[in-house]
Amino acid sequence: MEQYTCKAYAKINLSLDVIGRLENGYHLVDMVMQTVDIYDVLTFEKTMGEISIQSDCGDIPLDQDNLIYKAIIKMRERFGFVGGVKVSVEKNIPIAAGMAGGSSDAAATLRAINELFELGASVKELQEIGVKIGADVPYCVEGGTMRAEGIGEKLTALKSCPGLCILVAKPDINVATKEVYQRLDDLSGYSHPDVEGMVQAIANQDGKGLAARLGNVLEEVTIPMHPVIQTIKDEMRRMGAVNCLMSGSGPTVFGIFEEEKQAREAKEKIAEKNLSKQIFVTCPCDI
Ligand code: ATP
Repeated sequence: MEQYTCKAYAKINLSLDVIGRLENGYHLVDMVMQTVDIYDVLTFEKTMGEISIQSDCGDIPLDQDNLIYKAIIKMRERFGFVGGVKVSVEKNIPIAAGMAGGSSDAAATLRAINELFELGASVKELQEIGVKIGADVPYCVEGGTMRAEGIGEKLTALKSCPGLCILVAKPDINVATKEVYQRLDDLSGYSHPDVEGMVQAIANQDGKGLAARLGNVLEEVTIPMHPVIQTIKDEMRRMGAVNCLMSGSGPTVFGIFEEEKQAREAKEKIAEKNLSKQIFVTCPCDI
């Protein structure tokens, strides 16, 4: 095989709790992750040269700082394959948005290099390599509906999420995940979402119960920094969302709607009011 093309899917957090902090600064989380049907398209080509990355998006690094590059290096260190790789990235996932765009690209790269060079690595092996790149990478290797604990690497597959219509809106600001977690450490306390209840709602395929239990501790940090997040949430509710939440460290907001028509109307309203830079009507999916 000389060339391989694959999709790297975005995620949202249906629930995100932070339950502790390790001495090395990593945070212990308890999260329910869900893949949504928004994806980058990555094409990998074997070359005689070195690693090169090109993209239709000017906002991501194309050098060693790109997580795709890091993933290729990690695979080369582990499996010692010979030759270079040229990667083309069609970027659709909002950047620095709390949707794991970089982590998902890294995870897709691990899978792609495994296929392209016929390395025979198992999913578990790819996840072990992935966690060295970022805490969300092991989840992104498998995707779907999962509970992620530890620093994000302890994964439990859940039943597929019940069919939902989801509106995803990313305001025109970027959020640095590291800063959000640092500021969380400075808070004297925060209320914890009902992660266990979310897991039960998914097990019971209870869409209403799921919507009622959306929760993310990081909202307490990011919303005061960027009030537009609350404005988008209010607008989604006003337009009929059953519930809505910030994803990851933000600033992306997603809303759950009972009907696609309502979601499309909310999309138009939010775009009209210039509240978001990127906005999608989407749904949960597996990868
Ligand atoms: P997470 O939800 O995992 O915290 P995020 O959505 O907040 O991720 P990313 O889109 O992954 O954030 O981008 C964070 C930073 O990573 C960006 O500022 C970007 O410069 C860098 N980066 C490196 N590689 C990539 C990539 N392949 N795609 C997007 N960003 C990348």
